[in-house]
Amino acid sequence: MGKITSSISSYEGKPIRCKAAICRKAGEALVIEEIYVDPPQAYEVRIKILCTSLCHTDLSFLKLDDGPHVRFPRILGHEAVGVVESIGEHVDAFKEGDVVLPVFHPHCEECRDCKSSKSNWCTRFAEDFLSNTRRYGMTSRFKDSSGENIHHFLFVSSFSEYTVVDIAHLVKISQEIPVDKATLLSCGVSTGIGAAWKVADLEEGSTIAVFGLGAVGLAVAEGARVRGAAKIIGVDINPDKFELGRKFGITDFVNPSLCGEKKISEVVKEMTEGGVDYSFVCVGLNSSISEAFISTRTGIGKTVVLGIDKYLAPASLDSFDIFRGKSVCGGLFGGLKPKLDIPILVDHYLKKELNLDSFITHELKFEEINEAFDLLEQGKSLRCILWMDK
Ligand code: NAD
Ligand code: ZN
Repeated sequence: MGKITSSISSYEGKPIRCKAAICRKAGEALVIEEIYVDPPQAYEVRIKILCTSLCHTDLSFLKLDDGPHVRFPRILGHEAVGVVESIGEHVDAFKEGDVVLPVFHPHCEECRDCKSSKSNWCTRFAEDFLSNTRRYGMTSRFKDSSGENIHHFLFVSSFSEYTVVDIAHLVKISQEIPVDKATLLSCGVSTGIGAAWKVADLEEGSTIAVFGLGAVGLAVAEGARVRGAAKIIGVDINPDKFELGRKFGITDFVNPSLCGEKKISEVVKEMTEGGVDYSFVCVGLNSSISEAFISTRTGIGKTVVLGIDKYLAPASLDSFDIFRGKSVCGGLFGGLKPKLDIPILVDHYLKKELNLDSFITHELKFEEINEAFDLLEQGKSLRCILWMDK
């Protein structure tokens, strides 16, 4: 794709009519409809989406039918790259024509945690992930053809030709990186690489186990491969993921359905003389959290949890193991600070140090979005790029 040049939008200050994929009911196919996207307010930017992809979190929210997170109609989607169409007041860091990457996790750059090198938890904004807009609560920038408000999703809503995003959720990126590869860095792949590099900060020669070999899990493997991990054990119920996993550095594979009487953790411990240095949970199952924890080495084993169970149920861990040095931590967005760390990942890609290309297993037109959901749910795709203009 060529360079994107800036042009003054003829819609500046006015609503834009465009197409979006609307989620009207839990578990039902998305419906492509004409919608209106309002102009950006102060601290917001309206973006023309160039391409978007699907993450398992979109699938989980599409199916969610109970609890405070359930909202319809809604525009899902949170992995994308776009070009700035117009900006609201007090927006200094972005201008029309900039290529930008929206991120579900905020980075205000001003709060205590944004300023700390240890945390990526923006205390000013991150606590609220239920509102439609970052600074205006449930106010929506989307309306359907009958004038009804449509809910946003994770402050991004990229399954639309245009969307409005707060500047705390936007990263300006180099025009050197192809936009489809950059889209991967908007959520899942960054999360996996960040978990290996920043949260675990794993050393050369480490042994690791990755539970769930979707894009997030394979990005952990890719991050571990680049760091020189000695053994990268992939755990997945889908045997096709092993061949695919080799491209990202998976050295050994455990299929839980073939473990017989043995627990996965027993198999992993046997393969590593007592347990892995690090384990990563990249599937939304609490049973995997406890197996991943048991699979780690007494004394130093660290478990990084990236997938969340649908019902946010408590996980059970042996306190004696924790007492003896094992630890567990979370890794929201792989511990990355979006505005600081995404440009670094882009740079690694441009220097050919990171394999992003192999994560793109499918490409479809935006109108074929339901097919893309099927591919993800059936475990056939890692990331499917949906092109808005093809
Ligand atoms: P995916 O659907 O592409 O991959 C999930 C993988 O888990 C599949 O390969 C599947 O076969 C495997 N799996 C299913 N059940 C399993 C089991 N019992 N044991 C082992 N493997 C099993 O999903 P993804 O897009 O890679 O996302 C993975 C998880 O990470 C999701 O829960 C998602 O919500 C979460 N996520 C978290 C963050 C974060 O910031 N922490 C960011 C993105 C995604
Ligand atoms: Zn995601």
